Amino acid sequence: MPTRPPRECLHPRCHELTTEGNYCEKHRSPYEKGRPSAHDRGYDWHWYKVSKRYRMKHPVCEACNSAPTECTDHIIPLVEGGDKYAEENLQALCVPCHNAKTRRENP
Ligand SMILES: [Zn+2]
Ligand SMILES: [Zn+2]
Repeated sequence: MPTRPPRECLHPRCHELTTEGNYCEKHRSPYEKGRPSAHDRGYDWHWYKVSKRYRMKHPVCEACNSAPTECTDHIIPLVEGGDKYAEENLQALCVPCHNAKTRRENP
């Protein structure tokens, strides 16, 4: 595969050139830095349906009980052996609660 011509980092005021992604090494988000894509992490079609159905049953965040649900989360993370599709291992969270949980798990 031919290398892309370098382009300027999209970060405002940064003029580093990058051949990979839209940002230079310094401004690339951790997400772009080679975290597996949603697909690689196994968020497949089956999961999409399971999580959507779960959120329909739990329209309000189960952590704060006030905000609308935005994402379905695994109570026991998959990497720790949690069941991906079992409703007992799911919780519906709003974005702030989900972010707070993610921060606790990945300090
Ligand atoms: Zn940059
Ligand atoms: Zn919440």
